[in-house]
Amino acid sequence: MNEFYALVPAAGCGIRMGCELPKQYLPLASQPVIFHALSTLCGNAQIRTVFVVLSPEDKLFNSYDWSRFGAKLQPLFCGGATRAESVLNGLLAAELQAQDWVLVHDAVRPCLTQAHLDKLIGEAGDDNVGGLLAVPLADTLKRADAEGRVLRTEDREQLWQAQTPQMFRAGLLARALQQCSQVTDEASAVEALGLQPKLVLSDATNFKVTYPQDLLLAELLLNQLGNRT
Ligand code: C5P
Repeated sequence: MNEFYALVPAAGCGIRMGCELPKQYLPLASQPVIFHALSTLCGNAQIRTVFVVLSPEDKLFNSYDWSRFGAKLQPLFCGGATRAESVLNGLLAAELQAQDWVLVHDAVRPCLTQAHLDKLIGEAGDDNVGGLLAVPLADTLKRADAEGRVLRTEDREQLWQAQTPQMFRAGLLARALQQCSQVTDEASAVEALGLQPKLVLSDATNFKVTYPQDLLLAELLLNQLGNRT
């Protein structure tokens, strides 16, 4: 039997947003940013528990009312200095079975939908390695020099942008992150073991809130999707 769990690293401080409040707590459609992804993950019938990994110093999470998600939502105050460390600490604290599937999702991708989750689980749920949502690169890629001038145009053929969730067996992912901690996503750690995660076609709506203007875009999308508070 396949068991699915979600793990949401939310221990970052979001320096690129240029504000005091960590970006997962910025207001978005009457809720903190993190609420929206947690709502979608908790609303998925295939996912048993949603673990959210917070900084041990986090004083904000418990100032919100999460009661609507009941025991399905489990906060873990064990975040680390990097995203990879937060995910590994969370995986170990969650005490999952090695063969359990874990869907790791950024707290700051609020426009995740049930359709995204169903596609990932449907297409990677019986894969030997696991997989991730991703989109083929649409824009032309420029490499810059130190002066901000184009050094050259990169070939975008066969290049994809990695999103989350990224879904792997808990045992494999913990081993991968223990061996390779200098990574910006889970798939990179698994790749470093010589494995090839499956790319599952997603779309641009599942973007990461990184810059202040992204909040406006996310709000417009959430209103359009209309399936949340
Ligand atoms: O900073 P970035 O946009 O890459 O963050 C992606 C996700 O990783 C966010 O949900 C953030 O809270 C999380 N993160 C974390 N622990 C860190 C750094 C980032 O859980 N030390």
